[in-house]
Amino acid sequence: MNEPQNTPSRIDDICPRYELEPPRSTKPAAPPIYLASVYQCESIEQADAILGGKEPGYVYQRDAQPNADYLAERCRKLHAAEKATVTSSGMSALSLAFLATLRPGDHVLYSKFLYGKTVALLTGQLQPWGVTSTAVDITNLTAVRAAMTKQTKIILAETIANPLLHVADLAALAEIASSGGAKLLIDNTFATPLVCRPHQFGADLVMESLTKMMSGHADVILGLLTSRHASDDGLNRLSSTWGMTPGPFDCWLADRGLVTMHLRVDRACQNAQVAAEFLATQPSITKVSYPGLNSHAEHDLANRQFGGRFGTMVAFDLNGGLRAASKFINNASRIPFCPSLGDATTTLSHPVSTSHRSFNTAQLTDLGITAGTIRLSVGVESPEFVLEILREGLGD
Ligand SMILES: *Cc1c(COP(=O)(O)O)cnc(C)c1O
Repeated sequence: MNEPQNTPSRIDDICPRYELEPPRSTKPAAPPIYLASVYQCESIEQADAILGGKEPGYVYQRDAQPNADYLAERCRKLHAAEKATVTSSGMSALSLAFLATLRPGDHVLYSKFLYGKTVALLTGQLQPWGVTSTAVDITNLTAVRAAMTKQTKIILAETIANPLLHVADLAALAEIASSGGAKLLIDNTFATPLVCRPHQFGADLVMESLTKMMSGHADVILGLLTSRHASDDGLNRLSSTWGMTPGPFDCWLADRGLVTMHLRVDRACQNAQVAAEFLATQPSITKVSYPGLNSHAEHDLANRQFGGRFGTMVAFDLNGGLRAASKFINNASRIPFCPSLGDATTTLSHPVSTSHRSFNTAQLTDLGITAGTIRLSVGVESPEFVLEILREGLGD
């Protein structure tokens, strides 16, 4: 009963109250994780100033938090962008781009070579809201120009497309978009900023699934949306209002992944080139898709646009369809069959049974995907090891 007031002795009072110490004078060598869902305001004036955007600071985690800000700022620099927002997933970054740009009656022109869920978002989810969309062969610029309408507000393409690694001509698409009053939105997930920085070619908005190479350790789901325009300053607010913001721990993991992103992507690109060249010599393989091969339809464009790196993904077609693919996956027991990409470990996927399972035969034929198509996500092992585990798959 006689305890001084600021040193509670009751367990009921000790447990629920943090002893928050001010930071010491030495900086930690790695960022702390700020898990706080809410921050203390000193006064009504301060709360008003922070919430009104007049003073920097944090109040509520959904609106803003340090770990998301650290990550967004580094990603903004990596893309030489004006604005950057980190979201809860790659899909929410795309949703955010659509919410920021589209209104009922608008139209999206999209590359037919797109991540399956992105197509599902455009056709299944946006349609009921009065947004129409058309798929186009993005490598055919005449077809892109012809498919533009007065209502087209977004052209959407992947820098290097899933799964056959077609390359989009970003400068040409940016020109078509801007002359038609539309924005160019680029999904740069397969490239990463090390291979390509699409804003430099005129892309208005760039999206990354940070889940993949940029985080790089197969332990986090996050997305990024960057803008070339300083006027796009409402993205954070929109993301908070629609509930798309990320958690601090995920941001911390991705921020840590960035520490080695350039090294991982560089090594994986070198390994992918070695793997693609090896696969192209194999009699049981009918086609290898890799932008770094002379045989790739957009090799010259990739050379100009990518500054000597061609990405970490390689696709190839096995002679013998589904049976051959199944045999390869069984034989390649040291290449995990993981329907994702961008891990430090070399992994593989089978598009027909995973990412493209909802496509019918005609659609698959149109895209050039067969039951014998294998998509490799090349990792950061030694090139010798990558060739060894591929040889096991081929039964050598
Ligand atoms: C994975 C992926 C997405 C979606 O990202 P999530 O982080 O899984 O939501 C979008 N585009 C491409 C090219 C992807 O590989």
